[in-house]
Amino acid sequence: MADPRARRTPRLTTAEVRRTERLTPHMVRVVLAGPEEFGAGEFTDHYVKLQFPRPGVEYPEPFDLQRIREELPREQWPVTRTYTVRRWDADARELWLDFVVHGDEGIAGPWAANVKPGEVLRFAGPGGGYAPAPDAEWHLLAGDESALPAIAAALERLPAGAKARAFIEVSGPEEEQKLESAADVELTWLHRSGARVGERLVEAVRKLDLSGDVQAFVHGEAGFVKELRPLLRKERGLAKERVSISGYWRLGHNEDAWQATKREFDPQV
Ligand SMILES: Cc1cc2nc3c(=O)[nH]c(=O)nc-3n(C[C@H](O)[C@H](O)[C@H](O)COP(=O)(O)OP(=O)(O)OC[C@H]3O[C@@H](n4cnc5c(N)ncnc54)[C@H](O)[C@@H]3O)c2cc1C
Repeated sequence: MADPRARRTPRLTTAEVRRTERLTPHMVRVVLAGPEEFGAGEFTDHYVKLQFPRPGVEYPEPFDLQRIREELPREQWPVTRTYTVRRWDADARELWLDFVVHGDEGIAGPWAANVKPGEVLRFAGPGGGYAPAPDAEWHLLAGDESALPAIAAALERLPAGAKARAFIEVSGPEEEQKLESAADVELTWLHRSGARVGERLVEAVRKLDLSGDVQAFVHGEAGFVKELRPLLRKERGLAKERVSISGYWRLGHNEDAWQATKREFDPQV
């Protein structure tokens, strides 16, 4: 019989940073020299759980999450941060992760802003759960910068003839990126210009006519996600299986605090 702990402990990949690219003032692409095999492809919101070692802690070699969890106290386990697989190129064996550089606070953002080729990154995954449904009449994609990689991947997946409306909220025009799609896409960049994160997105989605068989992908800061969930599901009656919606991060909370409090903050999750 399979060891139940093996099922709970995700597979770990160690990859080297091949190059980095500053996409915009606040977005950095880190390209990893990918593993031999990587199970990404089914979803456009595939994500990995990055494992950042804690300074001063000696981890067993080879680095083994199961052993770490068994042998070390929880406060010494690596710090986990979640990032979307912006692209997995199996031929080039390249894995792209796009990081929001949101200041000096935190671990992953500052790491991405400063990392150099040759450095090593460990991660578990990929997980994922959404891809544009081929039978949807149209697609609504809405998010802030943290969801931009997943929205970009979804737009790239949409075939010619598909219809989409995308709303991406960024701090200002300098954060816009060129996104590719074969589909018929109406893309709106919303500039925060000092407003609270998500405010412009909520306004934009509230104004929309959501008639027809629409599939929605809405992700980003937890506060606006909490406002949009009842709007989409209760007010506008979108079916549960047509809506992918979750808080990717929460203002004023690091990822550990957000993950620990998400059900309390938004019981409908
Ligand atoms: C499934 C999933 C996919 C994700 N994909 C991506 C992705 O592709 N790219 C990406 O950049 N993020 C993505 N995120 C969000 C990312 O995991 C969080 O933003 C994470 O908190 C960043 O870690 P950190 O160490 O930089 O900051 P933390 O240590 O977690 O937080 C430090 C402080 O920074 C604030 N903060 C965190 N993120 C942001 C932000 N985006 N903007 C402004 N302030 C912030 C926090 O509120 C906190 O006050 C994803 C999250 C999930 C759940």
